[in-house]
Amino acid sequence: MENCVFCKIMAGEIPSQTVYEDDEMVIFRDAAPIAPVHLLCVPREHFAHLDEMDDRRAALLGRMFLKIAALQNQLGLEGGYRLVINQGENAGQTVQHLHIHILGGKTLPWG
Ligand code: AMP
Repeated sequence: MENCVFCKIMAGEIPSQTVYEDDEMVIFRDAAPIAPVHLLCVPREHFAHLDEMDDRRAALLGRMFLKIAALQNQLGLEGGYRLVINQGENAGQTVQHLHIHILGGKTLPWG
């Protein structure tokens, strides 16, 4: 989608440090990491919110979770990790393209 930073990354118009990609998702490093490992798992299909999901998109999201779990050691997440999906203004969502934050590499504070 025009003016979407993640769509531009996936189109190769903005550089990124991509660590995994296939025909339906990309995992790249967050530009402003808040943990030693901070990655974003992003579907190639543009949609912003969970309430825009149908069964097909839900299956895609499921495959994203499966892929993260399969790659955890390769991504430096051996000690455990946290997944975050910010939704809307109160959560501080700044990019309106659904994405899963993958956080790890240290013991993460809670709250
Ligand atoms: P959210 O606030 O949940 O929408 O998260 C958006 C994330 O995208 C933030 O953590 C940003 O640091 C990250 N981000 C924004 N632009 C880029 C970019 N060009 N490359 C990598 N990460 C980015």
